[in-house]
Amino acid sequence: MEQREIMNLSEKLLIPTYKRYPIVLRKGRGVRVWDVEGKEYLDFLAGIAVNVLGHCPRKVVIAIQKQVQRLIHTSNLYYTEPQLSLAHILIKNSFADRVFFCNSGTEANEGALKLARLYMKKKFGKERFEFISTFNSFHGRTFGSLSITGQEKYHDGFEPLLSGVKFVPFNDPQAIYESITDKTCAVILEPIQAEGGINVPDKDYLKKVRRICNEAGILLILDEVQTGIGRTGKLFAYEHFGIEPDIMTLAKGLGGGIPIGAILTKEEISKAFAPKTHASTFGGNPVACASAVATLETILEDGYLLNHCERISKYFIKKLNSLKEKHSEKIKEIRGLGLLIGMELFIDGSDIVKKCLEKGLLIGTAGDGKVLRFTPPLIIEKEDIEEALKILNEVFNEAKS
Ligand SMILES: *Cc1c(COP(=O)(O)O)cnc(C)c1O
Repeated sequence: MEQREIMNLSEKLLIPTYKRYPIVLRKGRGVRVWDVEGKEYLDFLAGIAVNVLGHCPRKVVIAIQKQVQRLIHTSNLYYTEPQLSLAHILIKNSFADRVFFCNSGTEANEGALKLARLYMKKKFGKERFEFISTFNSFHGRTFGSLSITGQEKYHDGFEPLLSGVKFVPFNDPQAIYESITDKTCAVILEPIQAEGGINVPDKDYLKKVRRICNEAGILLILDEVQTGIGRTGKLFAYEHFGIEPDIMTLAKGLGGGIPIGAILTKEEISKAFAPKTHASTFGGNPVACASAVATLETILEDGYLLNHCERISKYFIKKLNSLKEKHSEKIKEIRGLGLLIGMELFIDGSDIVKKCLEKGLLIGTAGDGKVLRFTPPLIIEKEDIEEALKILNEVFNEAKS
């Protein structure tokens, strides 16, 4: 089938939740993907921060191939080896003692909310159900995660949402302090707001929030669905800020492209999730876990990739800042950490993204649409960045201010 035909038929058959770009992707290797007509693209979005090792990384492909030949699915009525291997790696390399596996970011957050409520109720023997979240946050599309997402545009038409959620401005510890009552259960935050515009908080923000949570005896949940798995140059973003959460959620990069999510927590809190309180049929599926194990092993080998991410990030941000100097009437600010980078514009970002795509560069938007989102694979090299910048420069030259 031709590209146009695939697009037209897809538009007829799929429920129209997405506004897709007009290409049909067929193949990927490393930082590059190809459409069905053979046109090549440099992928600086990487499946929205999912393909941390790029497309079809060898080690991950082999791990998946081996696992699908051995065992594809069992349910959680039985133990499997890949699930244990993945739990070992995550626990060895994080604050956590225990982990629960699910299939996506929103599902991890749903589970984290349930775990927090159950734990706090058991601990205090009364209702402690309120969550404090932040404006411009993004936590997912199912009802619980949607309810703690601080963006009205995503709530529209779906009310009533979960009750007991308060929103405060991001990067404002005092606002959290003032929102705490004797019913507060937990604060939930992204260490860096990703979808909401790549908003990086002050260096001491999380430390202050951690202290406030400790003093009030409430839980701190970090949603590292997008910031985790090496994205910011550390395996988890909380490592940059000198704190540890009580509960952390993961997904996106975790499976190296295969769907998987996880909830990580401390021993004491984990006990609230006794048998029959929470479950997932597919959670911790052997293929997904084998893929995640191969992904994490690759990232953690010698710490090479994490160092590379930090180094190449500096280079990328420097280059983006020179581009900003050159197009100062169109580009307002470059911000981010590691390879989670935003470029705030004075103009609409969606046209820029479309023009980049035409010239063979895939990027995304964030926030109100005036922020360009760059989340390339951690394996990008200087030459890839040069190529991307050449395209961006052309596009900004042609764009109207
Ligand atoms: C993408 C994202 C989610 C939702 O993940 P899904 O896998 O799409 O459900 C939740 N939180 C954050 C921070 C995200 O970036």
